[in-house]
Amino acid sequence: MAVRTVFFDVGETLIDEERYWRDVAAAAGVGPHIVWAALGKTIERGEEHWQLWRHLGIERPASAWEGIVYSVDDFYPDALDCLRALRSRGLLVGLAGNQSAALEGWARSADLPVDLVSGSASLGVRKPDPAFFSALVEVSGTPVAEIAYVGDRVDNDVLPALAAGVVAIHIRRGPWGFLQATPSGVEVIDSLGELPGVLDRLASGSS
Ligand SMILES: [Mg+2]
Repeated sequence: MAVRTVFFDVGETLIDEERYWRDVAAAAGVGPHIVWAALGKTIERGEEHWQLWRHLGIERPASAWEGIVYSVDDFYPDALDCLRALRSRGLLVGLAGNQSAALEGWARSADLPVDLVSGSASLGVRKPDPAFFSALVEVSGTPVAEIAYVGDRVDNDVLPALAAGVVAIHIRRGPWGFLQATPSGVEVIDSLGELPGVLDRLASGSS
């Protein structure tokens, strides 16, 4: 089955969040390695990442959610080229992460090579809720089996996408990408440069 629409998670799929975590750590008055250690604890426990502040006994800085806005410099080097490549093939391309309204606003204003910005703020539901993926089917107007979702997290991206009937593609980068094992049978890539080839292979029906 050929994929006609590709939705991307944002953090650690398209955006390298290292700067974000450094800024948040600075706002909290601790070194980034301390925040990263606590982040690893939340991943190991299957918790939401903001639980890391509880582990550290530090109040979460206000800038850690509503205040955060990425810059185009934060994209992984392969990200924008991949978005452009998919659009040049005539695919519908969307951003769909758990994002604040501020971040969605930035994505819409940044002249990114995407057709849709449909994150949790505008959809009114967050991953891993299955309703998030049903909403993506709705906004894209694409049959569910012809939608691919690319994400770094197995718990928030891969498993709920599969459960919704979406083609899940796991990108192995960032903290979750390295620590969460790809379920068997799921397409896995190490960079977005590999994505067009994976979509070609899926369309041809070969494994
Ligand atoms: Mg992510």
